[in-house]
Amino acid sequence: MQPFDYIAPQDHAEASALLADGDAAARAFMGGTDLLIRLRSGLIQPRRVVDLKALPGLREIRLSDSSPPAAPVAWLVIGAACTMNQVAAHPLVRRDYSLLVQACNAVASYQLRNRATIGGNCCNASPAADTAPALYCLDAMAEVYGPGGRRRIPIADFFVGPGQTALRKGEFLTAIHLPPPPAGAIGVFNKLGRTKVGDIALVSVAVYCWMERPDRSSETCQVCWRIALGAVGPTPLRAREAEDALAADSSTAGTKRAAELAAAAARPIDDHRASAAYRRDMVRVLTRRGIETVLMLRAGSDARSPAGDQPSLPGGPA
Ligand SMILES: Cc1cc2nc3c(=O)[nH]c(=O)nc-3n(C[C@H](O)[C@H](O)[C@H](O)COP(=O)(O)OP(=O)(O)OC[C@H]3O[C@@H](n4cnc5c(N)ncnc54)[C@H](O)[C@@H]3O)c2cc1C
Repeated sequence: MQPFDYIAPQDHAEASALLADGDAAARAFMGGTDLLIRLRSGLIQPRRVVDLKALPGLREIRLSDSSPPAAPVAWLVIGAACTMNQVAAHPLVRRDYSLLVQACNAVASYQLRNRATIGGNCCNASPAADTAPALYCLDAMAEVYGPGGRRRIPIADFFVGPGQTALRKGEFLTAIHLPPPPAGAIGVFNKLGRTKVGDIALVSVAVYCWMERPDRSSETCQVCWRIALGAVGPTPLRAREAEDALAADSSTAGTKRAAELAAAAARPIDDHRASAAYRRDMVRVLTRRGIETVLMLRAGSDARSPAGDQPSLPGGPA
C-alpha cells in the first residue's frame, strides 16, 4: 500500500479544506471497509486520508430541531458516521423506519456492520449499496458540508453513477435526514446475494406502502406505494410504473403486473456475478415477494386495530 498521511480534523471547516486540496488527492475515511480495499489494491492512491468520524454530530442519531416549519413532526437525523449496527439498534429507527433496519442488517456480517457506516455506504455510491433502496423509499435527504456551507440533496440526486455522487470539491456527507413516516407505513427489504450472508447484492428490492385519506372525513383511502431497486442499474432506481400500477390494483393479478413492470424498469448488466437476464428475473421475483409480504403484514395490522381505524387495502392481500 502506498504511504499516505492520516488526518482527523476537529471541525467541519478544517475537514472541508483538507478534502478540497487537489494536490493531496485526499479521500474521506469512515469505517474504511470500502476505502481500505481500494487503497490496498492500488485502485486509488491518495496522499491524504481524512478521517471524518470525530467531527461533531457525525456519530449522533437525533430528532431534528430544524424540520421544515410546517412539519407537524420532527425529522430524524442520522449522522453519516453512524455504523450499520448503531442505526439498526436505535429505538427511533426501530420504531419508525423498520425498512432501514432491515437494510442495515442485510449488509455483510455483524462484525463488518460494526465498522461500516451509513455515510460510507452512500458515498461509495455502489448501485448495490444495501441502504440505498430503503433511503429512496423513505424520501431521505443527504446533508452535505463544503466550502459553500451546508446544503441538502434528495437521495436520488445524490447517487449520480457507479462510484459517483453529487458531492462537489471539498464537500462531504454529514447526515441523512428522514421525514416522519406516514402513519401505518410498512416496508420490506429483500436481497439476493450469491450466499445467504456476507455478499454484495445481485439484486435488492425495497417495497414501502402506506395509506392516505384525501381528507379527514373521507371513508376511502388512497394507497401509496414505493418500490426501489438495487444493483440493477448505474444507480439505485425507483420503479415508478410498478408503483402506479399497484396503487390502482393490489390484487393477485395487480401484484403480478407490478412485479413485471419493476423487472422492465431494471437496467441490469451481465458480469462475473450474474447475467442481466437472471437479475431482471430476480427483480420480478423479489418485487412480488415484497408486495405480498407487505400486504400480509398490512392485513395483520388491520386485524389488530379497532374497526374503522385503519381502512383495508382495496383488493386485499394477494
Ligand atoms: C467483506 C465485505 C462485504 C461487504 N458487504 C456489503 C453488503 O452486503 N452490502 C453493502 O451495501 N456493502 C457491503 N460492503 C461494502 C461496505 O462495507 C459498505 O459500503 C460500507 O457501508 C462502507 O462504509 P464505510 O464506513 O466503511 O466507508 P469507507 O470505506 O470509509 O468509505 C467508502 C467511500 O466513501 C467515501 N466517504 C466515506 N464517508 C464519506 C463522507 N462522509 N463524505 C464523503 N465521502 C465519504 C470514502 O472516501 C470512500 O470512497 C462490503 C464490504 C466488504 C469489505
